[in-house]
Parts: sequence; C-alpha cells; structure tokens
Amino acid sequence: MTTWAYLDGEWVDARAPHLTLSTQGLQYGTSVFEGIRAYLPRAGGRPEPFLAEEHYQRFLRSCEALRIDLSLGCDALVEVTRELIARNGHDTDCYVRPVAFKRTLLPGVPFGVRLTGVGHGLALTSVAMPSRLARETRLGIASIRRVHDDAIPTRAKIGGAYVASALAVDECTGAGYDDALLLTAQGRVAEASTSNILARREKTVFTPSLDQGILPGITRRKVLEKARENGYDVQERPVEVNELFAADEIFLVGTGLEISPVVSLDGCPVGEGSAGILTQDLCRWYGSLVRA
Ligand code: PMP
Repeated sequence: MTTWAYLDGEWVDARAPHLTLSTQGLQYGTSVFEGIRAYLPRAGGRPEPFLAEEHYQRFLRSCEALRIDLSLGCDALVEVTRELIARNGHDTDCYVRPVAFKRTLLPGVPFGVRLTGVGHGLALTSVAMPSRLARETRLGIASIRRVHDDAIPTRAKIGGAYVASALAVDECTGAGYDDALLLTAQGRVAEASTSNILARREKTVFTPSLDQGILPGITRRKVLEKARENGYDVQERPVEVNELFAADEIFLVGTGLEISPVVSLDGCPVGEGSAGILTQDLCRWYGSLVRA
C-alpha cells in the first residue's frame, strides 16, 4: 500500500526519492517545519488535526523568516492536512509534518549560501503516533545552549536551529536522562529540546517569557490560559535554574509530548518525584480537549 506525501501540489509516494543532493535545505538547514497531532475524536471517525490553524499561522511566519512565499494560505494547508490523513488511511492518532525548504539556485544565481535567488519546496508527510500524555520525564540540563535570537530567529521553527536540540538530547540521553533542558546564553532557563517548560510553586505558575529566545509554543499558550482560568498566578518572565530546583512541580508542554511531568531535574527529585497536582489536572483536561 502506498504511503502518500504531498509535494508541491502533487500526491507522491512518500518512500520514493524526490530531492536532489544540492537541495539547500539539506546542505544549510534552511527549512522550516511544524508538527501537528491529529486525534481520533471521542465520537469516532477520522483523526482530526488539533489546533491546525495555529500551527499553520506559525508555519507561514516561519516561512517569511526564510523568505519563502508559499502559494497556499492557512485554510488550504489545513485542507491538504485532512486529505493526507484520509489518503493514508489513518484510523488512530497520527502526526503530520509539514516542511518548507530551500531547493536549488535559480538560473543565473551564483553558487553560495543565500536565501534570495533560491527556489523552495513544500512537503507534508504523516505517521501513526499514539498519545504519550502524562509520560514521566527525567530531565537533564545540557551544556549546549539554546540558539540566540540574534543568530537564528527563535520564534520561527527553523530546521537548522534544531542542531542545538539534537546535540543537547544526545548529551543528556547519553547520561541516562530522557530529555534535555537547554539554557539561554545568559544561563537562564529556556526550554526543553522540543517542548516548553513550566513550573509551579504554591499558587504561582512560572515559565520563561518569549523574550528568553524560546519557541512561542501553542500548547504553552493553551496551558497558561487554563492555569489562569483555574486561579493560578501565572508569571511569564526570565527564570533562573535555581527556581526550578525549588519548585513544587515542573512539567513540559508541546505538541509531541503533550504534557509530561518532570519527575527529576539533573538527578534531583522534583516535588514528591512524581506528577504534581496541577500536572495531573492539566493532563486530564488536555486528554479530553484533544478529542472533543
Ligand atoms: N520548543 C521547541 C524547541 C519545540 O520544538 C516545540 C515543538 N513544536 C515546542 C517548544 C512546543 O511548541 P508547540 O506546543 O507549539 O508544539
């Protein structure tokens, strides 16, 4: 059975080779991407993309950062996503990966690394991916720092910036942790390899502010809204590592890992060393929200 991918307006076999070796996105990391989960609704049917509009708004902003002008808008991208899920016959939770990337130099453009004068491509693929909500994380602190916004725009989801995440994950998993916390260049808390970090101390929930060079996470925004609604004092501000060690609970939020309690940080138990009350509450709420 064919696994379909969308590539520049066509439906192609996802497993066939499609790119030339001179693709600049491959050579220089000049690509942008999103990760979108689709959940089987409680009422049944096909998996439904969760918060797809928000993801594609961020995707289009990321494209602008790399001077990629897609001919498709947000609604059309959501439509392609639905068709991909249907074509691939997904009947359980799945994950869709849109990627826009720099292809090859346009005729007459001299060889070299650049953004202008390079064509681009757009591809969407999908894979089955069960929920992993509430799975515990033992988080290590990586020596690799989060890329600084002065070097690569951190509000955009740019392929090349994930070299730092990959190095940090390798370092921390090699040391026996599940995931890596990356700090800012100033040594403050930034985010985990592919998720945002939040913590609670008593009735205060705190998380690094967007000026700390983090990705403006869609899950982060939703979860902060919910915490405010539930009466917590929510603070978005620079966060020192010491504050995490003094927290009652810490959790990670992101599309892929959904909500994950951090049970230890750099080997030290967080709170009771298991999911805290707020994390448990949020997991229950999120689990039902995604299938509503
Ligand atoms: N930070 C990074 C570096 C990420 O890759 C992700 C995953 N997209 C997040 C945070 C969480 O963002 P979101 O909730 O929008 O998935």
